[in-house]
Amino acid sequence: MKNNGILRQVAQLGEPVLRKIAVPVSNVEETRIQQLIDDLLATIKDVHGVGMAAPQVYESLRIFVVASNPNPRYPNAPKMNPTAVINPEILSNSKDKEKDWEGCLSIPGIRGLVPRYKSIRVRFTTRDGKVVEKIYKDFIARIFQHEFDHLEGIVFLDRLESNKDIVSEKEYQKIVTRK
Ligand SMILES: [Zn+2]
Repeated sequence: MKNNGILRQVAQLGEPVLRKIAVPVSNVEETRIQQLIDDLLATIKDVHGVGMAAPQVYESLRIFVVASNPNPRYPNAPKMNPTAVINPEILSNSKDKEKDWEGCLSIPGIRGLVPRYKSIRVRFTTRDGKVVEKIYKDFIARIFQHEFDHLEGIVFLDRLESNKDIVSEKEYQKIVTRK
């Protein structure tokens, strides 16, 4: 794996880029696209994220990375190989949704209980330019839906059923360590 990613500044809620609809990537092989993927992977690692979308680093392009790993921000996250997702589509989803905690590196300090589909079938282009179809469940499906929303200018706060489902980061830490 290449490891020449540069740490990027993460756009915070209020930045217009987080509310824009991102543009499809036409050529995955382009150096600036490959560099952007490396930068997202480096940045996510640095800030203990489990996913990060290109608009969060001021690039309004349809790319995100999913990199679930147990870390201080998500102690119960499953382990997976970091995956770059380009031009994603959600092809179908389970009937039922499930509420669970989410945070966002663009919205620091708070967490929310967000309803998401339990499983989704998706199609996307990999960083090698292959089009793949996958089924994701539970936490990975949740990350995918959260990051997909970023490409549509949507943040997790928009998905909450109630403002009462918001807690501070500090209270969230107490809740997950009690689990
Ligand atoms: Zn986010």
